[in-house]
Amino acid sequence: MTATTNELAKTLADLVDRDLTFMHICGTHEAAIARTGLRSVLPPGLKIVMGPGCPVCITPQGEIDAALELAAKGYTIATYGDLLRVPGTKGSLESCGGDVRVVQGVHKAVEIAEKTGKETVFISVGFETTAPTVAAAILAKPPENFSILSCHRLVPPAMKWLLEQGEATLHGFILPGHVCTVAGYREYEQFPVPQVVAGFEAEDILLGLIMLVRQVRAGEHRVENAYPRAVCRDGNEKARRMMYEVFEPCDVEWRGFPVIPGSGLRLKEEFSQFDAQKKFGIEFAHVSKHTACICDKVLRGISQPSDCRLFGKGCTPRIPVGPCMVSHEGACRIWHTYHMKKA
Ligand code: SF4
Repeated sequence: MTATTNELAKTLADLVDRDLTFMHICGTHEAAIARTGLRSVLPPGLKIVMGPGCPVCITPQGEIDAALELAAKGYTIATYGDLLRVPGTKGSLESCGGDVRVVQGVHKAVEIAEKTGKETVFISVGFETTAPTVAAAILAKPPENFSILSCHRLVPPAMKWLLEQGEATLHGFILPGHVCTVAGYREYEQFPVPQVVAGFEAEDILLGLIMLVRQVRAGEHRVENAYPRAVCRDGNEKARRMMYEVFEPCDVEWRGFPVIPGSGLRLKEEFSQFDAQKKFGIEFAHVSKHTACICDKVLRGISQPSDCRLFGKGCTPRIPVGPCMVSHEGACRIWHTYHMKKA
C-alpha cells in the first residue's frame, strides 16, 4: 500500500458510520481488489460484493452447449482461452475433440476463416467493451465461411434487474470502468442509487468508495466519475455507433438470472449471413443446474465463493465445476488464486 492508499483508506474509515454494501460489476475490479489486498484496509461494516461482471461466467450453459454442438458438426470454433474449459452439458470445448482454436480476438478468427477456407465460428462473448470490435470485423466484410455465435451482454439491463429484485441489500454500485470507457455512463443515470465509475488501481477504487459513502451519508444518488482519465459521460461515440450499426438488443438469459429484456446483442437482419445461429439452425436452450455449484448466487451478489461447499475442494482451477472457477475474471478463480476467505 502506498502513502496515498493509506491516506484514502483513512479518509474512508473516518466517513463510514454504518453498515454498507457496494457491488461492482466487473471481473477486473474483483481481480484488482484481491491483488492489492484492498479488502484488508476497508473499515469494518463496509463490504464490496461482486455482481455479474465476468462475461464468461454469465454465459449460460445453453450457449456453451450451442458452441459444443457447432464443434460436433465439424466446424472450426475460434474462442477466447477463458471459455475453453467452461463445462457444458457434455464436456467442454477443450475436451470435445473438435477443431477448437484459441484466439485473442475476432480478427484472428477471421484470419483462420481466410486461411483455411473452412466454416469458422467465433464464439463472441463480452460486454459493451468487446462488441464494437466484433462489429468492426463484420463491417469489414469477412469471408462467407466466417460467422459468430453472439453471446454478448449489456450491463445496464442486468443492473436494472438486480435493483428491481432487491435480493441483496445494496447501498450503491462501483460502475465498470472498461465498459463505461465505451458506453459512457449516461444510461446509468436512470437508477435511483449511488453510483461511481471507478478505475482499477487501489487508489481509484478507494476514491470511488469515498464518493459512494459521501452520497449515502448525504441521502443523495447520482452517477459520479472517479475515472475521468479514461471515461466520459457519453463514452466512445464512434465505437457505440458501430456496435448499434451491426447489433440490436434482444432478450437473453444470463447464468444465474432469468431472461432479462434487452440485455443481449444479436446481429441485425442485414448481417444474418454472419449469424451462426441462423446459418446452422442452432437454438439456445435453457439448461437447469445439476451440480452443487452456486455460481448463480455469486453472480447475483448474494453469496461469496467461500460459501460454496466445493470451493477449493471439489472445484479448483485445475478441475473447475463452474465457470467462476475457470475464467481469470471469475470470482472463484480470483479468490482461489489469492487465498481469500471473505468479502
Ligand atoms: S467454487 Fe466452483 S462450484 Fe463453487 S460456485 Fe465457484 S465455480 Fe461454482
